[in-house]
Amino acid sequence: MTSTVQDPIDLLRSSLEEQFKLYTEQLTELTACSRQPGRGGYDRDTLTALIGSARQALADSARALRRMAEGSYGTCERCTADIPLERLEILPHARFCVPCQRQQTG
Ligand SMILES: [Zn+2]
Repeated sequence: MTSTVQDPIDLLRSSLEEQFKLYTEQLTELTACSRQPGRGGYDRDTLTALIGSARQALADSARALRRMAEGSYGTCERCTADIPLERLEILPHARFCVPCQRQQTG
């Protein structure tokens, strides 16, 4: 096959690993704040929301990395169509193609 300088999937993998690390740190930090008496200056609702979205982002990148290991990465989980690389470059943890994503949210 053709030999490229760098496989785009490798680039996506490093950015997912980067994300995973980042959100793990963020979650650790936020969890530590939530255990402090003053909650690190956050009000309870903000902290809960931040922890929720960090946890979600962490799960998303973990799932994408697992799918990469399984070889199902880049395939829509709903209709099994290939997710375009341009979409994955914007949203490396995308689980659905654009039409399916629209159906999910809309
Ligand atoms: Zn789809």
